[in-house]
Amino acid sequence: MAENDFRCVECNEKATELHRDYSNGILKITLCGSCQKPVDKYIEYDPVIILIDAILCKTQAFRHILFNTSLAIHWKLCVFCLLCEAYLRWSLRRSSEPSGDPADIIRYAKELEFYGMVALAALELSAFCGGVLLVLRASSRRLRGDGADLRPLLRALLLSCYGKVLLVPAVIWEHDFLPLCLGFIKLFVLTSNTQAVRVILNCRRRLAFWAVCAGLLSETLAARTGQTLAAAFWKGAVFD
Ligand SMILES: [Zn+2]
Repeated sequence: MAENDFRCVECNEKATELHRDYSNGILKITLCGSCQKPVDKYIEYDPVIILIDAILCKTQAFRHILFNTSLAIHWKLCVFCLLCEAYLRWSLRRSSEPSGDPADIIRYAKELEFYGMVALAALELSAFCGGVLLVLRASSRRLRGDGADLRPLLRALLLSCYGKVLLVPAVIWEHDFLPLCLGFIKLFVLTSNTQAVRVILNCRRRLAFWAVCAGLLSETLAARTGQTLAAAFWKGAVFD
């Protein structure tokens, strides 16, 4: 990580280092020049505590993860979340279909359906990120112009989707409250997305909220289009 890339988790001021090594085995946490508090108190914390604070959507924990760590698992996490989402839809669809039906489509077609669900989930995620980036580019001065680097924002959006991994246990432990659980997971992911946008841009909560709403709208439109196309594809495949 380059110098000056660190941020104070308390006041968002830039910092050159998180701690200083005095070479005789003594490490001292750097104090922020602006607020006089430790630049990043989380470097001493257990990862579980950091995760709990991130789940609670604490701004400090988000700043620690997004600015002061070089966590580069966002693409792997993205693929895993897409698989979780596709599995959820696939399993819900399978459970709603009558089993043992002699007219049931052959097994490989069902597997093909799973990959179709992955593609649909990828389309929806792309539409969501595209919608958020579009609104922020139009309204944030920092993101205007050709030289604006959108990668930190995209990384923040993908990392803040980590709540989607909860979809798998929600489906495996099947119960009557599944729709309610899925609603809560969606709300949690959107709240995390809003907080990630707010932290990365250091913008007002309202702007982050409306950007995520635009992303959600874009995702819903993409889902409708994708489902219509998929239905037309399966209809064509059955009648051909
Ligand atoms: Zn500070």
